[in-house]
Amino acid sequence: MGMSRFHPPDPPPTRLALQRAEHGPASGAGRFGAPWRVALIYPNTYHVGMSSLGFQIAHQTILAAPGAGAERFFTDTLAQGSIESGAALRDFDLIAFSGAYEMDDPNVLDVLEAAGLPLLARDRPPERHGPLVVMGGVLISVNRLPLYPFIDVFAHGEAELILPGLIERCLQARARNVGRAELLESLVDLPGLEVTAGARAAAGVALPDELALLAGTLDALGDAGQSPGGLPRPAPPPGAVMACITGTPASTQILTPHTEFANMALIDLARGCPHHCTFCWIGHNAPAYRIRPLDEVLAHIRALEPFTDRFGLVASAVGAHPQIDEVCEYIMARGLRVSYSSLRVEEVSPTMLRALAAGGQRTVTIAPEAGSTRVRRLLGKRISDEQIFDVAEQIFGLGAENLKLYFMTGIPSETDEEALEIAAFTEKIQAIMLKWARPRGRVGSIGINLGVFVPKPNLPLNHIEPIAPAVAKKRLGMVIRQLEKIPNVRVAASSVELARAQTVLSMGGVESAQYLMLLRSLNNDWRAANRRWHAQEGEQFARLAAHSRLAAARLRG
Ligand code: SF4
Repeated sequence: MGMSRFHPPDPPPTRLALQRAEHGPASGAGRFGAPWRVALIYPNTYHVGMSSLGFQIAHQTILAAPGAGAERFFTDTLAQGSIESGAALRDFDLIAFSGAYEMDDPNVLDVLEAAGLPLLARDRPPERHGPLVVMGGVLISVNRLPLYPFIDVFAHGEAELILPGLIERCLQARARNVGRAELLESLVDLPGLEVTAGARAAAGVALPDELALLAGTLDALGDAGQSPGGLPRPAPPPGAVMACITGTPASTQILTPHTEFANMALIDLARGCPHHCTFCWIGHNAPAYRIRPLDEVLAHIRALEPFTDRFGLVASAVGAHPQIDEVCEYIMARGLRVSYSSLRVEEVSPTMLRALAAGGQRTVTIAPEAGSTRVRRLLGKRISDEQIFDVAEQIFGLGAENLKLYFMTGIPSETDEEALEIAAFTEKIQAIMLKWARPRGRVGSIGINLGVFVPKPNLPLNHIEPIAPAVAKKRLGMVIRQLEKIPNVRVAASSVELARAQTVLSMGGVESAQYLMLLRSLNNDWRAANRRWHAQEGEQFARLAAHSRLAAARLRG
């Protein structure tokens, strides 16, 4: 609630302008000339990357490791070199990607090309100091397989645990003057690290028989993917996860106006999620829910007060933090402004809403996800219409003018009628907005963000037969038309083609690397790529459906 998703600016500022606009405790840090130089890459624009607290924490973690330097790269400034010094990618010892979103997969290949590296790990020469390509982040936890042939080492788990050990082994290899093979060999047993088949094959590191097929060329991977047995889907090693997050980096250390949360300090309240929404990968696969203690949250706010009065509280479900009201009270007492990264309606407290209003927040965001209560229940959101209307009353009553609502359609087992309930639900919210707006003489707007369901691995919803793309397209159009009839409502809708592309990347195996190459050859035209990929995608859906009819009947009830 409060923080919206990303809308990158156009055109992007230059590297130097971006650098000059940065401020905060760690602005200007980079440790240039360190013995081991890490190029930390967010595979999207500066605007999106610097909006990510996870990316900032990875940056701080590298800088805290003795002997390591870290400089940041983004896709829109890649040609200008690192933000810190303008150094070129090829000058670094390690290229570390921090990924969050599957649609950034194609950008990873662009970065490798810009670094002058062969795209496939299997083709990288085993020479002594070629940069190692490492990737971590939630993106690879959800599905790393389409990127598997392009990456040397995947880092599964939390940066704070993995990066120091990785950097230490790199520095030891440098001190012993050993080559790539020995370095990769030394990483194999580090918790959370996975040295890929291509990197092992290229460097001559032992390759288990069951992975040998995955070290092939892209054509060989594609052919094997089509064969009856298909390609193996290697299980990732267990992620390296902190039992407790107390004392770990938790806040923005570089502030800038050039992010979605302009000059806002983000504070990490918790990791994992206590909820289990059936459509959400985090709720079913992320590590246990761990909270940051109140005194530590307040210490981060105090340390950043000299730099900003805007604070964003970040967690998968901000309202679940047991001391969220105390945090909000502190923020109000200090006259600061607050936003929340996400919120479940049933966890909104009056104090949280008062803190938003006290900071002058005019637009608030909530995510009912569905208009129909059955579909909402199916998604794991056990909230009634009345609970949501009640929160909307409080939001408008406290002075907010605009409300943003996130909905999804194309959810397995959803009917046309249930999808249309999104519009009926929105009309009721609009009536609440008008009731509060009329006496003030100012009418705001309701922004609808209408997404299309995308399956992720290991989710209960995958056991229900998916909606056919043609049906989803028709349904999405129907809902948009109904919503557009409601006054003061603005609709931003996703597309079924985009969702199909996302599905290939979120669910596909190693053979989906060919989909990424196809996309590149088609200049990232999802529609054209989907048309060409359709036969294989169709088979994938058919396999899913065949496994799921029984479970579907059970869950439908
Ligand atoms: S509350 Fe949010 S993060 Fe947690 S399971 Fe539900 S959708 Fe996922």
